[in-house]
Amino acid sequence: MKITRVIGDLYELPAHRKMLDALREFSVMDVIFARVETDERISGSGFTYNIIPHGAREILSLVNGAINSLVRGLDPRDHERVWYQMWRRLDWVGRGGIAVLGVAAVDIALWDLKSKMAGLPLYKLLGAARDQVPVYNTDGGWLNHTIEQLVEETRQIVAQGFRGTKIKVGKDDPAEDRERIAAVREVLGPNRTLMVDANERFTHAEAIRRARMWEEFNLFWFEEPLPAEDILGHAKVKAHTTIPIALGESLFTRQQFKDYVASDGVSILQPDCCRCGGITEWLKVAHLADCHNMHVSPHFVMELHLPLVAAIPNGLFVEYIPSLNAVLKKPLELHDGYFRPSQEPGLGIGWDTDKLDRYRVKA
Ligand SMILES: [Mg+2]
Repeated sequence: MKITRVIGDLYELPAHRKMLDALREFSVMDVIFARVETDERISGSGFTYNIIPHGAREILSLVNGAINSLVRGLDPRDHERVWYQMWRRLDWVGRGGIAVLGVAAVDIALWDLKSKMAGLPLYKLLGAARDQVPVYNTDGGWLNHTIEQLVEETRQIVAQGFRGTKIKVGKDDPAEDRERIAAVREVLGPNRTLMVDANERFTHAEAIRRARMWEEFNLFWFEEPLPAEDILGHAKVKAHTTIPIALGESLFTRQQFKDYVASDGVSILQPDCCRCGGITEWLKVAHLADCHNMHVSPHFVMELHLPLVAAIPNGLFVEYIPSLNAVLKKPLELHDGYFRPSQEPGLGIGWDTDKLDRYRVKA
């Protein structure tokens, strides 16, 4: 069995609502698909994404150009061989960023193909540690929401049965962050899970100061307090607060996760399959965490991460942000705070191709 070609396509979806974190406003959701075709009339489809206004066309160009030529002729079932072929021929131009985003799209397509060939849903093919995964909601806690909106959104999140909620922090005034956390905790009550996310906003001194102001609210994690490059800074923050430190959405490949674990800079790993290098790499990060008795709670793209979290023994949650709902046949349904992975072979994401076509970017 051989790969005959890889075809990339770009879709530019509008943001489903106005969303601000401590660093950025998100106005688009670019999805770059990679379809891996074979000489046996079966294909696999993967994707990666971009939520800033630049770079999506460059990822598409890499998929249709260099990656297409690098993997043609290889057996698509040999996901390690294909991954290393892409990695070793692209590492000169990128050990992260656009190169790894492109590698991820193709790797995910290989697992879609493998799952279809096996006739098994992806989470079963990968080992199925559970049949449902708890869900926390991030969509009610954006930094642009007023405190009244935060409270109202939290009420709805509780009523809908989510297992927890996460709000953005990073207001200029630390007291304002504290007031927002207090208001949300009050609505949640003492037992539901509450997390905060600074999206790399702080220095380590400021992060420690703020974390200590928040410790009384029983936070489940403090996410990305510092820029992702600052491993030692994260280790300092972790050593000076009782709140667990979560990060990983800004890391590429298992090597960057390994450095964080080795430096004691993180408590909970949050690999994003589309950014860390695909399913092959995501699983290695999850197993690295397992070796160190640590949990994994992936970033965003809940439809893709649901079968992955269901497959591993050390998974925590999937993160609810409904950015793809507009292009799905049927959005994921919450059952008493849990999502259940698809029982269909393949990734189990029901793309609505008619709806997607409206957003297709013509080359
Ligand atoms: Mg985050």
